[in-house]
Amino acid sequence: MTIRPVCTRRVVCRSPLLLLFFVLFFVLFFHGCTNRQKTDTLQVVASIEPLVYFVDRIGGERVSVSVMVPAGGNPHTYEPTPKQMALFGRSDLFVKAGSGVEFELDWMGRLLDLNRSIAVCNASDGILLLPMEEQEHDSPVGEHHQEHGNLDPHFWLSPSRARLIAATLERSLSALDPAGKAYYAANLATLDRELVSLDREIRSRLAGVSHRRFLVFHPAWGYFAHDFGLSQIAAEVEGKTLTPRQLQRVIEEARAEGIRVVFVSPQFSTAQAAAIARDIGGKTVTVDPLARNYQENLRHATEVFARSLQ
Ligand SMILES: [Zn+2]
Repeated sequence: MTIRPVCTRRVVCRSPLLLLFFVLFFVLFFHGCTNRQKTDTLQVVASIEPLVYFVDRIGGERVSVSVMVPAGGNPHTYEPTPKQMALFGRSDLFVKAGSGVEFELDWMGRLLDLNRSIAVCNASDGILLLPMEEQEHDSPVGEHHQEHGNLDPHFWLSPSRARLIAATLERSLSALDPAGKAYYAANLATLDRELVSLDREIRSRLAGVSHRRFLVFHPAWGYFAHDFGLSQIAAEVEGKTLTPRQLQRVIEEARAEGIRVVFVSPQFSTAQAAAIARDIGGKTVTVDPLARNYQENLRHATEVFARSLQ
């Protein structure tokens, strides 16, 4: 393309040139603005919803966070969409549970192939994972061992451990964005105080319940039980359908314990849980191990446990 002089007389030219100057100025100015915004906001991907909460609380306005396993998704079977993979490809930080959640085990390698420069924060860093309670009722232990190395992956459902998640995130974000260090540290201090008081609140609410053993279909509440002096009896083993024999064992155990409630998670099929509840003359009650609004959800779950175990 050749550029031909559009005007021949200076007088006519002056105002279009001025206009062009202003247009160029504004284009460059706004381009600069959006560019700056892009590099100033850390793009973070978290593998599960509760981790989004911690990224949000520590990172605040300096981060933009999205989730891999969305609300209602099952982290034991989830597969990312092409759109999520594209987003992963241009993100700065991936926050993983790092505790043996199948989604991460299955996808981590493939995701990292899409983005070799992404930083990875392991939210369970420094947290001692507890062994998954051995099931007494004829469980396929071999398979279970393989999936989780026999460690319980649901460490986030414990406010005392959540304090460590928050601290780990603060370190990760500060390392990636040193200019925000003081901001992240202040957010951590606030959140840490809240988690200490959440822990105290749950402890006192559950102190007086008379049934300390509870039956849950998907075994997500082991750390919660451990922290607050309860004991979790799990019906299933990480997403597997129970055989009729296993189902019968669970029903017998529940009857022996005088259990009338089967706790269920919204991410898992409740058909077998409902069958157990029917057989013991009880009911199913929902508690969510993966809600994004971490503190509100744990308060709600505590209330549900407290009322059901009264
Ligand atoms: Zn699980």
